[in-house]
Amino acid sequence: MPHNEPCPACGFLVPDWHWEWHEEPGFSAIYQGAAGMECPACGAVVMYVGAGLPLTLSPPGMAAQGAKRDVAKAARWSRVSNTGMTLADYLTTAAGQPYARYWTPAEVHQADQQAATNP
Ligand SMILES: [Zn+2]
Repeated sequence: MPHNEPCPACGFLVPDWHWEWHEEPGFSAIYQGAAGMECPACGAVVMYVGAGLPLTLSPPGMAAQGAKRDVAKAARWSRVSNTGMTLADYLTTAAGQPYARYWTPAEVHQADQQAATNP
């Protein structure tokens, strides 16, 4: 979530912004419009301002707070949401592909192993 919203900085249509991949308090702060998410295409910090409203750029001075997605949380999400799919495999799908270079392959591999042994 949110789905199919364009980046206000570069215009890239992101299939899924994956705010659920942020660790707390980042996730709550993003949902409340107090922190931003990184665009996976250009790295701009983008704010959620409410259901049905377009995403906006972060105000000056608010950049980067809570913006980095967590690879371990993403790997756990992938196992639960995609019936056991690894994050490495999810990153090859249409929705996951924009995040294919968000982490290193080693980081993704390690997170998948941790998610498999500690669901
Ligand atoms: Zn962008």
